[in-house]
Amino acid sequence: MTVQRVGLGTDLHRLEPGDTLVLGGVHLPSTVRAVGHSDADVVLHALSDAILGAVGAGDIGTLFPDTDPAHAELDSLEILAEALSVARARGCVPVNVDVVVALERPRVSPHRDAIRARLAELLGIPADRVGLKAKTEEGLGPIGEGRAIGATAVVLLAEEETG
Ligand code: MG
Repeated sequence: MTVQRVGLGTDLHRLEPGDTLVLGGVHLPSTVRAVGHSDADVVLHALSDAILGAVGAGDIGTLFPDTDPAHAELDSLEILAEALSVARARGCVPVNVDVVVALERPRVSPHRDAIRARLAELLGIPADRVGLKAKTEEGLGPIGEGRAIGATAVVLLAEEETG
């Protein structure tokens, strides 16, 4: 029987005025940008943590400590690539993922399929195995007030068949 492993990751970043929001490796036109370690792509950060969690390999904070100045401008694509590499080293590859982004603006739905296609490409799976939903938080809390963006991701990994 193929062993399968589920992982969960979350992320949150502050927003400030800007012109581009990076979500799932896709640059969206926006009136806000996410602030934080690296390029603050909450989707890739949550996914990377989910992948690492599925194989019991800690989180991106342990792989790329933000106390190290070398990581300050780290591209989130590199973070995801490293998480996938850690999983592959343990014999695991992605089966499917599901992601929820929480934000007030910009609207994600016009870009949903582009982000799903990009994530599928990055993960090496078909786009129909990538779920992406966006929701607002009814004006409540830092996300609802437009001061932050959050993401939650679950991933299923399968141990690769050998021989
Ligand atoms: Mg983050």
